[in-house]
Amino acid sequence: MLNSTNANRQAFGFAGFIAACAVLLACLVWPLQAYAQTESIEDLPNVLDARVSTTPERARLIVDLSGPSKFAIVSMDGPDRIAIDVQAFDIKILAPADVAGKGIVTGFTVEMADTGRARTILTLAQPAQVQQAYVMDAVADQPARLVVDLIPDKAASFKARVAADLAASQALQGAAAVTPSADQATQSPETEVRPLVVIDPGHGGVDNGATAPNGVHEKDITLAFALDLQKILIDSGKYDVALTREDDTYLTLNERVDLARKNKADLFISLHADTFQQSEIRGASVYTRDENATDVLDKVLADGENRYDIVAGFAVPQATPAVMDLLVDLMRREMRKSSFVAAQSLIKELEPSVALRRFPVRQADFFVLQAPDVPSVLVELGFLSNASDIANLQKPEWRERVVEALARGIGDYFESTKTTAAVAP
Ligand SMILES: [Zn+2]
Repeated sequence: MLNSTNANRQAFGFAGFIAACAVLLACLVWPLQAYAQTESIEDLPNVLDARVSTTPERARLIVDLSGPSKFAIVSMDGPDRIAIDVQAFDIKILAPADVAGKGIVTGFTVEMADTGRARTILTLAQPAQVQQAYVMDAVADQPARLVVDLIPDKAASFKARVAADLAASQALQGAAAVTPSADQATQSPETEVRPLVVIDPGHGGVDNGATAPNGVHEKDITLAFALDLQKILIDSGKYDVALTREDDTYLTLNERVDLARKNKADLFISLHADTFQQSEIRGASVYTRDENATDVLDKVLADGENRYDIVAGFAVPQATPAVMDLLVDLMRREMRKSSFVAAQSLIKELEPSVALRRFPVRQADFFVLQAPDVPSVLVELGFLSNASDIANLQKPEWRERVVEALARGIGDYFESTKTTAAVAP
């Protein structure tokens, strides 16, 4: 979730610019320097289309753009709304659509709020929060797009977010123009920042991943596990969670890594269920990245995994060039340490629940674990080359057991990072 209370996660540089002004029923204020980095307004993309689908459990806004752009999100009440501003030159929507479905969002409008800024306002039937928001580059026949997912929220936390957004606005405007009401002044906005876990269901779209002899694809298994893991983490109230894909979509390995990096994820978990030539190899394992694989089979596994982008018609990402910069090197080393701690935490909780491989914490050179600034692990849930694993991977109750164990492991990991932070001088 990338809502405005923790918008500082976004590397988009707009965190401080998110603002609402109460006098004019909340208008977002973006300082002029927002455009300083942009060559000119004409270079901004156009909004090509906007559509919203909703159910009572979740809603999704998709804004098609002629190119990638930056965005900011703010919550407003009276009535409850969420506004999304995108840097854009103009709006070129030919046929405005109604909200598809019934649920969280009852209506939406898209209009130019200011020069270089297109605003979408979602009218809410109930308090809601942004679960995740991201911009994707154009892929194949799909244009670049902004995706914003909403889920229901408690009335109190929605109100706190409205107040926080308002406070940010006032800070930006020197606070002179607007005096907060007593209610808003005494309300302490929710300041607790939850760690962001990015779950990456391996493969998708044209890339099926491994295929079991019974025809089951790895991409479907990883997605089912990812969705269940997302739910259990969100329900715990302790994390913000984003998925790299929520349906049968193809993403390059770089796009998966970029999503985690841009959103400053606190943990990246890639889920897989690959095949080994040796069908007797079975059980779950967790990998961290290292150019030196634990053993030759791990190297084969990682090489195969890294090749999937070629299968899908995309260039294989270049291996990170030798790191020259000492700081980057240090950061990478730090991340490797954190990744290793995360892998150990996951394995510790998986151990009593499911069969593990021998030496279940392993290393291999998976490109998808290349982020130098996000602790990253790859979970091989089991192998689609082993009959017992195939049976387990398709059982909902086995999936539940694994997902619960992973959620506990994630909890242990973040607990351990807290202790480390407290002890550190
Ligand atoms: Zn895989």
